[in-house]
Amino acid sequence: MEQALAPALAQRSEDHLYRHRRVLATAPGRRVTDAGGRCFTAFCSNDYLGLAKHPKVVAAFKRAAERYGVGSGASHLVSGHGREHRALEDELADFTGRARALLFCSGYMANLGTVKALVGKGDAVFEDRLNHASLLDAGLSSGARFQRFRHLDSSDLQRRLLATEARRRLIAVDGVFSMDGDIAPLPELVTLAQQHGAWLLVDDAHGFGCLGPSGGGVAEHFALAEPALPILIGTLGKAFGTAGAFVAGSEALIETLIQQARTYIYTTALPPALAAATRASLQVLRAEPWRRQWLAALIQRFRRGASTLGLSLADSATPIQPVILGDSQRTLQLAAYLEARGFLVGAIRPPTVPAGSARLRITLSAAHTEADVDGLLAALADAGGYRP
Ligand SMILES: *Cc1c(COP(=O)(O)O)cnc(C)c1O
Repeated sequence: MEQALAPALAQRSEDHLYRHRRVLATAPGRRVTDAGGRCFTAFCSNDYLGLAKHPKVVAAFKRAAERYGVGSGASHLVSGHGREHRALEDELADFTGRARALLFCSGYMANLGTVKALVGKGDAVFEDRLNHASLLDAGLSSGARFQRFRHLDSSDLQRRLLATEARRRLIAVDGVFSMDGDIAPLPELVTLAQQHGAWLLVDDAHGFGCLGPSGGGVAEHFALAEPALPILIGTLGKAFGTAGAFVAGSEALIETLIQQARTYIYTTALPPALAAATRASLQVLRAEPWRRQWLAALIQRFRRGASTLGLSLADSATPIQPVILGDSQRTLQLAAYLEARGFLVGAIRPPTVPAGSARLRITLSAAHTEADVDGLLAALADAGGYRP
């Protein structure tokens, strides 16, 4: 086995595509310390609202762990489904304006389980080519005819819908694209779905908490109720600051998932304390709109500063602000330079992004200060030699 695996590892390293895990000694947040004791200002976490270590969220987690223990002990359908899970599902249904919501242990599992419960052989699934890997994997392994349309390109999707003869058609997109920060053209997709009798699924992992006047994500941003957007998926590990995911939709959708989604049925339920912590985080998210407003102000500050530096930014109004360099080695060099200056950013390379589009993935959080953003901009200004 060693001999069989070694060449691919060596090649990956030579191509500047090898991935290393950094060991952190602190909670996620604007300031982190690594295991070697070095301190950084982090611009790479998805904790967009700074809730992962919010005192109310931590306190709810502790209280629930004291009361219910740590593990849920069984799957939801056996005996792992508790009152915290039920209460969180009800609150998420209310928050999204949907009839029901169903908890999953992760966004990956929610996407896989949902798509595979809804379509199979003889059906067709249409996905934006820059969708998150979990949504692409779900479509690919569903057995349905899998087609990718060009990024944000509704006319490409329309051509494909016109050509299909499949019985069931599912259109599945990210609400906010995870490596680009741009937003799916949902009003157009809703119209196409209705014209072609397709079902629309939106994975809003990065929109929930950040977009919409009360943090309801892209559905709220575009004011899309359940009939227009029947399958809405959110993850809890990003702006909610906890872990897990949910699907929100009609009674029939949720009951179908409970009966059929294998990643729901055949896994141990989320720890009840995580559900309790998420209930607290949902409360903070709803009660403190200043977090979204502050985040929006920091995004603007970063974009203004970056354009003054002549950096080419993506068309993104979200906390995800990629700086696309193209070349993997240069991306690593620039990330290393910023690290030496005390800033952590994501260096994202293929196959996470298409070949030739390696990038820094800079993410902003309501936990950042204006001085943090200005510091990062100053370091980027000094990094001239590494920049495109
Ligand atoms: C992070 C992410 C997921 C996966 O969610 P996890 O809960 O981390 O498994 C799914 N979809 C998108 C768009 C994501 O960004």
